[in-house]
Amino acid sequence: MREKKDYYITKIFGSNVFSKKVMKERLPGETYRKLLKTIEEGMPLSLEVANVVAEEMKNWAIEKGATHYTHWFQPLTGSTAEKHDSFITPDDEGNSILEFSGKQLIKGEPDASSFPSGGLRSTFEARGYTAWDCTSPAFLKETDEGDTVLCIPTVFYSYTGEALDKKIPLLRSMDAISKQAVRVLHALGNQNVKKVIPTVGPEQEYFLIEKELYLKRLDLMLCGRTLFGAPAPKGQELEDHYFGPIKDRITKFMTDLDKELWKLGIAAKTRHNEVAPAQFEMAPYFNYVNIATDHNQLWMEIIQKVALRHGLVCLLHEKPYAGINGSGKHNNWSLITDNGVNLLDPGNTPHENLQFLIFLSALIKAIDKHQDILRASCATSGNDHRLGANEAPPAIISIFLGDELTEILEKISNDERYQKKDKVFMKLGVDTLPHISKDNTDRNRTSPFAFTGNKFEFRMVGSSMSIADPNFILNTIVAESLDEFATRLEKASDISKETTEIIKETIKNHGRIIFNGNNYSEEWVKEAEKRGLLNIKNAVDAHKCMITKKTEDLFTKYEVLSKEELYSRFEIYMEQYAKQIAIESKTAIKMVKRQYLPATIKYIGILSETILKAKQNNVDTDSMMTMLKDIISSFESATKKVNELEKELNNANNISESLEKAEYFRDKIFPKISDLRKDIDLLETLIPSDIWPTPTYSDMLYKL
Ligand code: ADP
Ligand code: MG
Repeated sequence: MREKKDYYITKIFGSNVFSKKVMKERLPGETYRKLLKTIEEGMPLSLEVANVVAEEMKNWAIEKGATHYTHWFQPLTGSTAEKHDSFITPDDEGNSILEFSGKQLIKGEPDASSFPSGGLRSTFEARGYTAWDCTSPAFLKETDEGDTVLCIPTVFYSYTGEALDKKIPLLRSMDAISKQAVRVLHALGNQNVKKVIPTVGPEQEYFLIEKELYLKRLDLMLCGRTLFGAPAPKGQELEDHYFGPIKDRITKFMTDLDKELWKLGIAAKTRHNEVAPAQFEMAPYFNYVNIATDHNQLWMEIIQKVALRHGLVCLLHEKPYAGINGSGKHNNWSLITDNGVNLLDPGNTPHENLQFLIFLSALIKAIDKHQDILRASCATSGNDHRLGANEAPPAIISIFLGDELTEILEKISNDERYQKKDKVFMKLGVDTLPHISKDNTDRNRTSPFAFTGNKFEFRMVGSSMSIADPNFILNTIVAESLDEFATRLEKASDISKETTEIIKETIKNHGRIIFNGNNYSEEWVKEAEKRGLLNIKNAVDAHKCMITKKTEDLFTKYEVLSKEELYSRFEIYMEQYAKQIAIESKTAIKMVKRQYLPATIKYIGILSETILKAKQNNVDTDSMMTMLKDIISSFESATKKVNELEKELNNANNISESLEKAEYFRDKIFPKISDLRKDIDLLETLIPSDIWPTPTYSDMLYKL
């Protein structure tokens, strides 16, 4: 074996994490074993154990310079929340004692009244609680000045126990899918598995912009996206940015970022230039979904901090710039057993293949049956600019399996032999299963849900979103299919026959969801409609699918969300949608009235004066007059539109019902912002750059 050396990279990796390794080193053996039982098997944690853990956690943090601790949680705003408390307790002699008890570790009571609760609060209690989620390790957050805070990952719930955060349903869904997957495995004779855990590796796209330019754009500062801006003469048509050489300055930034991430145990792995100019991507090595979710939230926070150090700002919005690609997160998802087997890996033995085909069928069934809520899991006003808006990926959910897998499934369901190249494969039977080759080389970049050899890549997730929602929904819908299959397999006398039946039925009833072609084509939209697949074009319609009887039954059956929790989330997401567009419209009005119209007036003045003088000197003014008329015509149009937008905004604000309000913003306000943009963008092309008040697309995209 090669000697393990203390390289810089291995030394800093996880250095700010109270990991299992640290706990094992520092905690008494008995305490560590008991804690591990809680972490891995969900056994209750006694206060006695918590006290010992808290003391050591505090000592470790203080040795590393921490002065404060916080319960770190993920409210329904989609970002994270923290409230710092120092470790100090003064005694009556004027000394300070540093204290941190098991109770303080386990439970916190932040004021819940300012977090979104979607009605759960008014019907119940204003109080909210945070509880230690010991499945995710505590970590230290450092500022650039060296201030250090101990962060304890927690879940956030109401007085009566309703989930007020993104983590609780995710953790519940992990239990649900584990239970059902284990049943399937046991039915298949795989008795050793006790637990199955979803794994996720989110590939994250983002844009960078010069901070100085960012500060000159109110729209970027308040909305995260440009509401105005004529296209730059160069877009992404030369395809020269994707995987292109990374500029030194960006490499420097990325390395700085990676180091910060590594300290937190986030395994930042891949980095590259993305398709659009000034767009980039980072992918971590995959992890259990709950930890991947925490890590992705932290990533979104840390990238902002590190970008600022380099005079940059990171744009996480799904569509910062019109006309070029937006940003998403590719949510790579699979299932792993507690003995380390990837259940979506086709494997080498017939037995493994049988298992694989069952899990694959469970996914196909789940995705087809619950297209609507999977679509809803990624629905935000920001992501509406991507999904179905002529760019990757479309709003129609389908699965890419590749030709080989599709053919295998079809052959099995038709009782035919599968034959490939020189090899002949027999129809399904435990000892004569087809060999499924692992290198699924055919890639389909247009599919929203693509099988990539040993995992599925869900590409609809928006770049600014928490990955908790898409994953708790994915886990739950797959749990349901596995539950149904397990019930059948447990009763079956001939497992391979029953498996064949399950595959057959899945293909017959849900095969329509498989599509290996070009998802961006017009033909697919028509074909999908023929197949009866859903094409939900906007976030409001998508979220409506979350409050159907079907969805309610699903989430209550698997105890992932109660009816109250489901409806409260719907309220919150509708409110967020309306508020986001309200902010966009107010920002647009402000920019037009205070920046674009005044700049236009200024130039109209200059041009008019020039024309007047030219006329006095008998110079031909026809071209200048045409220009002036064009400018005045756009100016007048913009003035009219901005006033209308203002009026509509007042109307919208008088609506109290959240769905009605969201629909009003979608139908009446949003199109008006886009329409106003047309005039302003035209004016940008007519007015000299030294008068135009905001940085242009060329500035923002190419001055990095
Ligand atoms: P590709 O380039 O083919 O999309 P990569 O190997 O770069 O695939 O992986 C993309 C992401 O998928 C990475 O974050 C990676 O860690 C993750 N990934 C790989 N295997 C799994 C798995 N079994 N479960 C979840 N994510 C995975
Ligand atoms: Mg990928």
